[in-house]
Amino acid sequence: MSDFYVSLIPTDVNWQPTGAAAVEAEAYVRRVFPDPDGVQQDVTVEFYDRITVVDAGENIKQITCPRCDRNIPLDWYEDLIEETEGEFDSLTVTVPCCETAVALDTLKFDWPSGFARFEIAVANPARAEHEFTPDEIGAVEAILGHPLRQVVAHI
Ligand SMILES: [Zn+2]
Repeated sequence: MSDFYVSLIPTDVNWQPTGAAAVEAEAYVRRVFPDPDGVQQDVTVEFYDRITVVDAGENIKQITCPRCDRNIPLDWYEDLIEETEGEFDSLTVTVPCCETAVALDTLKFDWPSGFARFEIAVANPARAEHEFTPDEIGAVEAILGHPLRQVVAHI
Protein backbone atom coordinates (compact mmCIF):
# COMPACT_ATOMS: atom_id res chain seq x y z
CA MET A 1 0.00 0.00 0.00
CA SER A 2 1.38 3.39 -0.93
CA ASP A 3 1.24 6.48 1.22
CA PHE A 4 -0.48 9.67 0.15
CA TYR A 5 1.03 13.01 1.09
CA VAL A 6 -0.04 16.63 0.78
CA SER A 7 2.77 19.10 1.47
CA LEU A 8 3.23 22.84 1.60
CA ILE A 9 6.68 24.21 0.70
CA PRO A 10 7.99 27.79 0.32
CA THR A 11 8.21 29.08 -3.25
CA ASP A 12 11.80 30.18 -2.50
CA VAL A 13 13.90 26.99 -2.26
CA ASN A 14 16.16 28.38 0.48
CA TRP A 15 13.58 30.12 2.66
CA GLN A 16 12.84 28.91 6.19
CA PRO A 17 10.35 30.30 8.73
CA THR A 18 11.10 31.00 12.38
CA GLY A 19 10.62 28.11 14.78
CA ALA A 20 7.74 29.93 16.45
CA ALA A 21 5.94 30.46 13.15
CA ALA A 22 6.42 26.78 12.26
CA VAL A 23 4.89 25.70 15.58
CA GLU A 24 1.90 27.97 14.97
CA ALA A 25 1.51 26.68 11.40
CA GLU A 26 1.63 23.06 12.58
CA ALA A 27 -1.10 23.78 15.17
CA TYR A 28 -3.26 25.34 12.44
CA VAL A 29 -2.73 22.36 10.10
CA ARG A 30 -3.64 19.89 12.86
CA ARG A 31 -6.81 21.92 13.51
CA VAL A 32 -8.00 21.92 9.87
CA PHE A 33 -6.95 18.29 9.31
CA PRO A 34 -8.71 16.59 12.23
CA ASP A 35 -7.88 12.94 12.85
CA PRO A 36 -10.49 11.66 15.34
CA ASP A 37 -8.97 8.18 15.66
CA GLY A 38 -5.39 9.41 15.70
CA VAL A 39 -4.12 6.39 13.81
CA GLN A 40 -4.42 7.09 10.10
CA GLN A 41 -2.66 10.37 9.44
CA ASP A 42 0.62 11.96 10.37
CA VAL A 43 1.44 15.69 10.38
CA THR A 44 5.15 16.50 10.06
CA VAL A 45 7.12 19.74 10.01
CA GLU A 46 10.65 19.58 8.64
CA PHE A 47 13.55 22.02 8.53
CA TYR A 48 16.07 20.61 6.05
CA ASP A 49 19.79 21.48 6.28
CA ARG A 50 20.11 21.28 2.50
CA ILE A 51 17.71 21.92 -0.37
CA THR A 52 15.60 18.76 -0.43
CA VAL A 53 13.35 17.31 -3.08
CA VAL A 54 9.61 17.39 -2.34
CA ASP A 55 8.21 15.78 -5.44
CA ALA A 56 5.03 14.09 -6.54
CA GLY A 57 6.60 10.62 -6.34
CA GLU A 58 4.83 8.01 -8.42
CA ASN A 59 2.48 10.66 -9.83
CA ILE A 60 5.25 12.00 -12.07
CA LYS A 61 4.92 10.61 -15.56
CA GLN A 62 6.52 13.37 -17.62
CA ILE A 63 9.32 15.90 -17.14
CA THR A 64 9.99 18.50 -19.81
CA CYS A 65 13.13 20.56 -20.30
CA PRO A 66 12.65 24.35 -19.86
CA ARG A 67 15.35 24.99 -22.51
CA CYS A 68 14.58 22.68 -25.40
CA ASP A 69 11.04 21.51 -24.54
CA ARG A 70 11.97 17.88 -25.05
CA ASN A 71 11.12 15.17 -22.54
CA ILE A 72 13.70 14.31 -19.92
CA PRO A 73 13.83 10.55 -19.27
CA LEU A 74 12.25 9.65 -15.94
CA ASP A 75 15.16 7.25 -15.36
CA TRP A 76 17.60 10.14 -15.48
CA TYR A 77 15.63 12.03 -12.83
CA GLU A 78 15.14 8.98 -10.62
CA ASP A 79 18.86 8.14 -10.80
CA LEU A 80 19.73 11.73 -9.88
CA ILE A 81 17.45 11.67 -6.83
CA GLU A 82 18.85 8.29 -5.79
CA GLU A 83 22.51 9.38 -6.19
CA THR A 84 22.00 12.62 -4.27
CA GLU A 85 19.51 11.14 -1.79
CA GLY A 86 17.34 14.06 -2.84
CA GLU A 87 19.56 16.67 -1.17
CA PHE A 88 21.30 19.51 -2.97
CA ASP A 89 23.59 22.46 -2.27
CA SER A 90 22.95 23.80 -5.76
CA LEU A 91 20.01 23.08 -8.03
CA THR A 92 22.07 23.44 -11.21
CA VAL A 93 22.29 20.23 -13.23
CA THR A 94 23.22 19.35 -16.79
CA VAL A 95 20.16 17.87 -18.45
CA PRO A 96 20.59 14.97 -20.90
CA CYS A 97 18.26 16.27 -23.63
CA CYS A 98 20.30 19.31 -24.69
CA GLU A 99 23.36 19.04 -22.41
CA THR A 100 22.79 22.48 -20.90
CA ALA A 101 22.89 23.59 -17.28
CA VAL A 102 19.45 24.29 -15.85
CA ALA A 103 18.05 24.70 -12.34
CA LEU A 104 16.14 21.65 -11.13
CA ASP A 105 13.25 23.80 -9.97
CA THR A 106 12.72 25.05 -13.53
CA LEU A 107 12.07 21.56 -14.92
CA LYS A 108 8.45 21.22 -15.98
CA PHE A 109 6.88 18.34 -14.06
CA ASP A 110 3.41 17.11 -15.08
CA TRP A 111 2.55 17.07 -11.34
CA PRO A 112 3.67 19.97 -9.15
CA SER A 113 7.01 19.11 -7.58
CA GLY A 114 9.53 21.23 -5.81
CA PHE A 115 12.66 21.68 -3.78
CA ALA A 116 12.72 23.26 -0.35
CA ARG A 117 14.40 23.62 3.03
CA PHE A 118 11.07 23.63 4.87
CA GLU A 119 8.01 21.43 4.56
CA ILE A 120 4.71 20.88 6.34
CA ALA A 121 3.21 17.55 5.30
CA VAL A 122 0.07 15.62 6.07
CA ALA A 123 0.47 11.90 5.36
CA ASN A 124 -2.72 9.95 4.63
CA PRO A 125 -5.19 12.75 5.53
CA ALA A 126 -8.18 11.52 7.53
CA ARG A 127 -10.64 14.16 6.29
CA ALA A 128 -12.64 13.83 3.06
CA GLU A 129 -10.99 16.84 1.35
CA HIS A 130 -7.45 15.48 1.10
CA GLU A 131 -5.73 18.55 -0.26
CA PHE A 132 -5.17 21.97 1.30
CA THR A 133 -7.83 24.38 0.07
CA PRO A 134 -6.72 27.76 -1.34
CA ASP A 135 -8.02 29.43 1.87
CA GLU A 136 -5.96 27.09 4.02
CA ILE A 137 -2.83 27.68 1.95
CA GLY A 138 -3.44 31.42 2.38
CA ALA A 139 -3.80 31.00 6.15
CA VAL A 140 -0.51 29.06 6.43
CA GLU A 141 1.22 31.63 4.20
CA ALA A 142 0.03 34.36 6.57
CA ILE A 143 1.31 32.48 9.62
CA LEU A 144 4.71 31.69 8.09
CA GLY A 145 5.09 34.97 6.21
CA HIS A 146 6.00 33.53 2.80
CA PRO A 147 4.21 32.28 -0.35
CA LEU A 148 3.76 28.49 -0.50
CA ARG A 149 3.17 25.79 -3.07
CA GLN A 150 1.24 22.56 -2.60
CA VAL A 151 2.72 19.22 -3.63
CA VAL A 152 0.53 16.12 -3.74
CA ALA A 153 2.34 12.79 -3.78
CA HIS A 154 1.84 9.06 -3.84
CA ILE A 155 4.99 7.43 -2.53
ZN1 LIG B 1 16.82 20.21 -22.94
